[in-house]
Amino acid sequence: MKKLYFIPGSQDLYGEECLRQVAADCKEMVDFLNEQLAGTIVVELMPTVETSKICVQDMKAVMNDDDCVGVITWMHTFSPAKMWIKGLQLLHKPLLHLHTQANEKLPYDTIDMDFMNLNQAAHGDREYGFILARMNIPHEVVAGYYRHAHVLAKIRRFAEVAKAIDLSKNTRVATFGNNMRDVAVTDGNRLECEIKYGWEVKYWGIGEIAKLADACTEAEVDAKMAEYAGKYTMATDNLDVVKTQARYEIAFEKFAEANGVTAFTDNFQDLFGMEQLPGLAMQSLMAKGIGFGPEGDYKISAFSAVLMKMAEGREGATGFIEDYTYDLTEGRELELASHMLEVPASFAANKPEIQVHPLGIGGKADPARLVFDGVTGDGIQVTLIDLGDHFRIICADIELVKQPKPMPKLPVARIMYRHKPNFEIGTAAWCYAGGAHHSVVSTALTREDIAMFARLTGTELITIGDDTTEADLRKFYM
Ligand code: MN
Repeated sequence: MKKLYFIPGSQDLYGEECLRQVAADCKEMVDFLNEQLAGTIVVELMPTVETSKICVQDMKAVMNDDDCVGVITWMHTFSPAKMWIKGLQLLHKPLLHLHTQANEKLPYDTIDMDFMNLNQAAHGDREYGFILARMNIPHEVVAGYYRHAHVLAKIRRFAEVAKAIDLSKNTRVATFGNNMRDVAVTDGNRLECEIKYGWEVKYWGIGEIAKLADACTEAEVDAKMAEYAGKYTMATDNLDVVKTQARYEIAFEKFAEANGVTAFTDNFQDLFGMEQLPGLAMQSLMAKGIGFGPEGDYKISAFSAVLMKMAEGREGATGFIEDYTYDLTEGRELELASHMLEVPASFAANKPEIQVHPLGIGGKADPARLVFDGVTGDGIQVTLIDLGDHFRIICADIELVKQPKPMPKLPVARIMYRHKPNFEIGTAAWCYAGGAHHSVVSTALTREDIAMFARLTGTELITIGDDTTEADLRKFYM
């Protein structure tokens, strides 16, 4: 289980009794957080910062612990912030400044000078907030009594985002083939991706997968077919074609295991040695949290893995999608989003069917794929683009809807959604902002999650939703 370190601040001016009380109050707070956040994160109490030296030791411990994904700090008393400078200079993990108190209510009848000296977050947290601003350290501030539900919800969000950032720093994308010829938005600066987000983008030939697929044993293939039979409806007699996809999934899994890879890209223009484009195999893998970007899109591959981690444990579906086509009936505009094949099984509203159909592009054999209608509900559509001198995240609020009519001749999985505030403004804003045609759609995540990720990683964010106006569109002209 991943951890957050809880580092309280004080100073040695107040005497032993006060510091004992600080530690006791912090322990109570940490116990409460552990009880409430069980299953999401473990919170570990660190020695109270009374001196610069302790702060440095605490932050060294944070950086040395691979299970620690971030830090919560809180100034129980005043804690002169010069004491925090050297420690904070060592910190390169997400930081939450919890602006709270041990006590909810002010004890009007009994409050004296001792109480006021002991419980002065209003004073100490401002001093601490100043040094974070002065040092320009990305962080979150969560204000309120720590037992209140809205405060706890924000701490939980921080834990989930911190876990996603931890995964981001450990993401290795295997790219099979390069970017699709001539496509712009899937390209960019891989080096900068690694510097900023930790994504290692490494090239391999797709022949590696073909080789592993050929080497699968019948027993391995049977086990994978049994997995499919448990999850999906077999709507084809052509089991050999399905078995080829089963071999691909096994091959990708083995490759991931052997190479520490958590995300893939492929390219239908480079399938040397493969009989089919991996369809079913990728749809199934994505539903297991493996990142994927088609056409060499390493950014969306890594970003989808990060966002699936962020959504882990929540209700709802999260995964890669491509914008495809519209129903432009006036006032009731809808988008149909899908892909050639690779729509994650996590978006299925019904039990997916395994079907085999021809694929017009790529010149390979008819591939097996999962076909299903998509989930419904409020969601977001998020993408990340490389603008040359910086990255930009675009996050649009959407409403996923049931498709108005069956589409019996469409042989791929699909989702449908309504743009906000409406089609005209929502999609124009996406275009102005330079939003890609590859994105991550989620009914589990919200704009607030993405905004926190953007703040903590220092990424530009453009949001689109009910609060977006015609006038806002002009802001996108840079
Ligand atoms: Mn595509």
